[in-house]
Amino acid sequence: MLEIRELYASLTASAAISTVAFFWLYFSRFSRRGVLWWAMAMTCYLLCLILTTYRGFIPPFFSVLVANVSATAGYVFFWFGIRVFFSRSLTRKVWWCGITLIMLVIIASEITLFDPRLVTSKVLITSLNYATINILIAYELIRNARQSNTAKGMGGINLLNAIIIIYRGIHIVRTESFNLYFITGWTTSAYILWTNASLLLTTVGLILLILEELNAKLTRQAIEDPLTGLLNRRALYSITPEDFLDLQNTHTSLGLLMLDIDHFKLVNDTYGHIIGDTLLKHFAEEVSCCLRSTDILYRIGGEEFLIIAHGVSPLNTCALGERIRKHIEQTPLVTSHGTIHHTVSIGYTMTTPDDTYLKPVLERADSALYYAKNHGRNRVEMSLEAA
Ligand code: GH3
Ligand code: MG
Ligand code: MG
Repeated sequence: MLEIRELYASLTASAAISTVAFFWLYFSRFSRRGVLWWAMAMTCYLLCLILTTYRGFIPPFFSVLVANVSATAGYVFFWFGIRVFFSRSLTRKVWWCGITLIMLVIIASEITLFDPRLVTSKVLITSLNYATINILIAYELIRNARQSNTAKGMGGINLLNAIIIIYRGIHIVRTESFNLYFITGWTTSAYILWTNASLLLTTVGLILLILEELNAKLTRQAIEDPLTGLLNRRALYSITPEDFLDLQNTHTSLGLLMLDIDHFKLVNDTYGHIIGDTLLKHFAEEVSCCLRSTDILYRIGGEEFLIIAHGVSPLNTCALGERIRKHIEQTPLVTSHGTIHHTVSIGYTMTTPDDTYLKPVLERADSALYYAKNHGRNRVEMSLEAA
């Protein structure tokens, strides 16, 4: 059996590693919102554990109060950090909740100094307090988890923590073993080892959450056009033949429309590239207005766009193209340099059961667009090869 003080010392070492890890993260370029709160939370745990390890050498009035307050503050900061990380604001209600939890622990910690018979209340209040914060943290993690199993897993650890804390509080009160936290025995050892494991798992979990967020951001950046916010050519080419067949099977037919702004170079030459960019953004917004939520719009080149419309007939697709063409013709861009009228040429095609991948379909839409350009522009043409 390990000595209790050795076990607390190992827990202190874990907290020290976590504290260093979070401060390092905060000052590194991987820092995200919420990391400073987590670094402060780990510092609080560390302080609490140092005081607990050296219990007996420090006057209890001071050590018990500071240890309990810093443990609670650690949990509260951890909770704040999770909220901030998931872009949820720290509302006045959240601040008051955090302050109340800390105040309750201050009162509960000192209550026995005035009346030692109140030790039961002290244990119950502190246990309830810690359990409540663990539940708040778990709730925040699980409701924001979306696809992240890491966040769900961490939420699970906090729920388990809450259950263990309540169980232990009740056990201490029922058996009147108020010194159980410091008596060598298998339950105390198991409890400390579990706390150690959950602290390290939480640290690894938080770092994984940060990596997941960075990864999602990079993926988004790779497939997103920074000017218009639309999906880019890379996103289009990431549609694998399997995805394409899936799409075909779910939506009997797909309509592909390729759009190219007419005489766009003239806009750049007349008004400059900045206004050219503004026109591209304006165009993307106006086309988006004409689409259903299931249609996907890509910016596949400078002033070239592509729409994939799901579950449409050739007639629907032609009508969509016409709607967009007219809408663009009727919505010029108004700038301080004047009103810029512009038009769009559109070529479209339908997928057929013979199409097993995207490339030939794109080529058909492109040749229809080429036809529209060569026959006067500002028109919608269907690929002659389409079914
Ligand atoms: P057409 O009617 O035949 O399509 O004529 P066009 O002038 O629209 O076509 P062209 O392909 O000759 O010119 C496209 C221009 O788009 C050339 C390029 O400078 C401009 N361009 C490409 N990307 C951007 C961009 O991101 N911003 C701006 N402002 N211009 C761009
Ligand atoms: Mg072009
Ligand atoms: Mg053009």
